[in-house]
Amino acid sequence: MNTHDFKKYGYQLVDQIAEYFENIDSYPVRPNLQPGEIYKKLPQSPPSNGESMDEILRDFNEIIIPGMTHWQHPGFHGYFPANNSFPSILGEFLTASLGAQCMKWETSPAATELEQIVIEWLRKMICIPEGWSGVIQDTASTATLCAILTVREKISNYKTNQSGISGNKLRVYCSEEAHSSVEKAVKIAGIGSKNLIKIATNDKCELIPSELSRKIESDINDGFNPLCIVAALGTTGTTAVDPLEEIGTICKDKDIWLHVDAAYAGSAMILEEYRWMNKGLEYADSFVFNPHKWLFTNFDCSAYFVKDQESLVKTFQLVPEYLKTDNDNKVNNYSDWGIQLGRRFRALKLWFVIRNFGVEGLKEKIRNHIHLARIFEKMMKESGQFEILQPPLFNLVCFRWTKHGLTEQQTEVANKKMLTEVNRRGKIFITHTKIKGRYSLRFVCGQTDVTEKNIETAVNELLHCSKLYN
Ligand SMILES: *Cc1c(COP(=O)(O)O)cnc(C)c1O
Repeated sequence: MNTHDFKKYGYQLVDQIAEYFENIDSYPVRPNLQPGEIYKKLPQSPPSNGESMDEILRDFNEIIIPGMTHWQHPGFHGYFPANNSFPSILGEFLTASLGAQCMKWETSPAATELEQIVIEWLRKMICIPEGWSGVIQDTASTATLCAILTVREKISNYKTNQSGISGNKLRVYCSEEAHSSVEKAVKIAGIGSKNLIKIATNDKCELIPSELSRKIESDINDGFNPLCIVAALGTTGTTAVDPLEEIGTICKDKDIWLHVDAAYAGSAMILEEYRWMNKGLEYADSFVFNPHKWLFTNFDCSAYFVKDQESLVKTFQLVPEYLKTDNDNKVNNYSDWGIQLGRRFRALKLWFVIRNFGVEGLKEKIRNHIHLARIFEKMMKESGQFEILQPPLFNLVCFRWTKHGLTEQQTEVANKKMLTEVNRRGKIFITHTKIKGRYSLRFVCGQTDVTEKNIETAVNELLHCSKLYN
């Protein structure tokens, strides 16, 4: 392809993308497909000779698009969003164009220094204590793994990387509601998932600090070595917020690393009315949140902050001769701040987003999402058909259809049927969880441009399906 054709298809694609967003609600949020349906439509072998962009784009439109779940659809209310925005897409466009590999300062000074700046902006926006450092990672899972590897190194006086894990009976703690990435990290770090201790939660699904203390004491008595506690600010099931200050005091007392997983709800910390979430953060050692979830920056982009930059770098730094440079002690070489050597230029899209929205613009969006979730909650309550299982703290509402006299089992069956039907119809998409053993539907209101009208559509869909199936 020459530049002439690149321009032609480039302009065409920008038009197509704009139209996609204009008409996005004409697509079913999630396709109705059987496993293998798309696979069968695709050639089993690569083409020997080049194909035209017209053919490639035709197949994209005819085969790929109908097989996509439209994560940017305003009716997407499942999981947590991975929301997006035009400035982010434009930034990503340029990142792809520059094709830079941003492992070291020297491999692109501007990428490193822009990352330093935008991560510092984020630190200020969510009020992480002064003096902390940050780095962009691909996902929260990676950041949590980095936290656990760092403390594993630190506690062994940086010997584990060299000598391997010795049997020093390490233990990691989190609540029973913590994200599966904690267990994954503990497995990968060689600590063993049986040494991840899940602490009971109260009726709001928050970790119970006295249970944590009790477990730590008994583990110490049994010869275990408590390594790290992962506190969640906004659990995945219900966005419960663990009591950070109380957990922090325990960590300080026993000299245990405190990692804070605010993957989703961390974005709300840009709002003054959510600053209470920071209480106790001074006890923490590391913190992660995902701008790729609820800050309009397209996947992937995860912000990882650490109190002690040195322990992070000491854990991951490994400089072969061919990568040594004269500037190594004057600059941040972000490949030393995590697992990957090669790194994408993720700071660019984040910079575009923060500048184009402005901090006030971002706040307004997030506030509106929280406000719309309250409207949803109110409408669901007023319908008389649904119960709210957890009053929403942010923009996730946990609810279910209910009728007097039904058993738990019958309620679950009815709600499962309703969920299947709602999602089959394709106007909205929601997911489910269990709260203290009770089946619950989850409705998240975090799509970039979601409106009150979309909320009304969702309520109508849910009411319609509850009548059909119950
Ligand atoms: C989504 C989520 C994660 C995982 O995020 P990734 O970036 O996909 O790894 C971790 N913790 C919580 C609380 C989450 O909600």
